[in-house]
Amino acid sequence: MSVQSGIGDEVAGRMAERFFADAMLGGLARWLRLLGIDTAFQAGIDDGELVRRARSQRRVVLSRDRGLAWQQPEHDLYLVRAEQTYLQLREVTLVFRLWRQFAPFSRCSCCNQPVQAADADTLHRHLPPGLVGYNTEGWFCPVCRRLYWRGSHVTRMEQMLARLREDLLAEQVSAASLTALEGRGQATRRG
Ligand SMILES: [Zn+2]
Repeated sequence: MSVQSGIGDEVAGRMAERFFADAMLGGLARWLRLLGIDTAFQAGIDDGELVRRARSQRRVVLSRDRGLAWQQPEHDLYLVRAEQTYLQLREVTLVFRLWRQFAPFSRCSCCNQPVQAADADTLHRHLPPGLVGYNTEGWFCPVCRRLYWRGSHVTRMEQMLARLREDLLAEQVSAASLTALEGRGQATRRG
């Protein structure tokens, strides 16, 4: 049975580009950001404030909290069923058909800001010795200054993209709509 069957029907039928992940979904928020999905997250935020901000920013709340779902039925909220982070990502991707929005490596996993391409000088100054090469690609966050480069977490990310692509193909998502999840050439976005 597809994960789409019978869950999230009230929000699954329309485009939902922006999310606010609750305190139990920090790992999911990080993966969504790495895929370029605009996902707010703040550790320790209380339920009322989370719902208020999500509504003012027109974000769908992603939650594992059934109590929150019962308390706030009038707001856009999706109750995530899966417990493991990758399975949560797969579930939310299918329910919201997020592959239409994927832009891997285009957003900071720490603060949700769009990243920018790092020039050679920046990479040379900040990469660990031995990693600097003339063909090294990197990105940095203009807000928190975090630097991303190929060969670090990006390799692990690409392994996850390949797994997600296989899972979506198994759910009858067309290969033509999953080009963003293909090899590193397509995965690279320069800001
Ligand atoms: Zn950042």
